[in-house]
Amino acid sequence: MVGLDAALVPSLADSRAAGRYRARRTVESREPGATRLRVDGRDVTAFCSNDYLGLADHPRVTEAFIEAARRWGVGSGAAHLVSGHCHEHRLLEEAVAVFTGRPRALLFSTGYMANLAVIGAIAGRGDRVLEDRLNHASLLDAGLASGARFARYAHCDPASLEKWLGADFPGTERRRPGGKPLRAGSRAVVATDGVFSMDGDVAPLRELAAVCRRHDAWLMVDDAHGFGVLGASGRGSLEAAGLTASDVPILMCTLGKAFGVFGAFVAGSETLIETLIQRGRSYIYTTAMPPALAAAARAALAVQAEEAWRRERVLAHAARFRAAATALGFELLPSDTPIQPIVTGSETAALAASEALLAEGLWVPAIRPPTVPSGRSRLRVTLSAAHEDADVDRLLAALATRFPRGLHS
Ligand SMILES: *Cc1c(COP(=O)(O)O)cnc(C)c1O
Repeated sequence: MVGLDAALVPSLADSRAAGRYRARRTVESREPGATRLRVDGRDVTAFCSNDYLGLADHPRVTEAFIEAARRWGVGSGAAHLVSGHCHEHRLLEEAVAVFTGRPRALLFSTGYMANLAVIGAIAGRGDRVLEDRLNHASLLDAGLASGARFARYAHCDPASLEKWLGADFPGTERRRPGGKPLRAGSRAVVATDGVFSMDGDVAPLRELAAVCRRHDAWLMVDDAHGFGVLGASGRGSLEAAGLTASDVPILMCTLGKAFGVFGAFVAGSETLIETLIQRGRSYIYTTAMPPALAAAARAALAVQAEEAWRRERVLAHAARFRAAATALGFELLPSDTPIQPIVTGSETAALAASEALLAEGLWVPAIRPPTVPSGRSRLRVTLSAAHEDADVDRLLAALATRFPRGLHS
């Protein structure tokens, strides 16, 4: 038998040769505001976090964490269904339910686990799961792991979804293209990111909801990047699209992005939440998040509601960056959100551009396959309310001087 390392070496070498090898950088320290970091011995301004509102080190959020840690200690000690479910978790679930306008909410340790739990709990063999082809990996993995028939419809394309849901296959039985007839009573779950994490564009939620209604499919929205940022009061993509729980019965959001903390929740009906508690394997079989994190997330929820300027500021940064970068001739993707990618095409061009900016003290990560499709590598610029106008100007100036002929290879 070949030794473990000898068996693994070739695929690492392949990743390197393809420009897809990934390496971590260690952040050595962070100044207040969390956009100025010391990394690998260099001071940089970061344009890569998902801390869109600058709440990750907000004094009230940090204080709430410390105070709760003094009272509760650090670890929850057990799973939610054993003895790990604390008063702090309950308070956060209630606050989130009120904020999202849904009867109940359920906390998860991570968004990845929330997605796995939801799809696994409501769909299985004989059912169908349809997802946007550019959905976050955790939703795609959840669809595959569920054992349901799984298909990816074209990106942000309700007509493609409709085709998969059977409009083009008239008759008494709905068929998957090329597939066997579905059993009677089979379920259909449609899942989409609200804001696409690597592209920054927003799903056509109203149209998708209409297709789902016509085909008795349940729509789930993963609003990891919209929640806290979009909508008149920061309630996210659904608020921006004017949709309610009857259009989108399953809402998942993370607390580690705009809310600057950690963890995630699913909000929905009493029955949905009870079902997840009974059947969500990645809810049941894992240690509850530390109660101090729940306290911090509840403080973050309150701060974002009180400080609307954070939302306005990050969106203003995004709009200004976008207008100026486009005027400089860069190819940006159609996004009005804090995620503003610049497509380079090849992996090597993305890596080289990222290195060149780092040399100027600007940290913008290169995003490569398999995170994005082949030939669609990019720099992923993310903006934050913690940025100053001068930070955005510095990035624009560096892009203009380093890449006078644009970035697309
Ligand atoms: C980050 C992200 C997740 C995963 O959330 P974590 O809490 O980081 O595990 C899920 N979906 C989308 C769209 C994300 O961007």
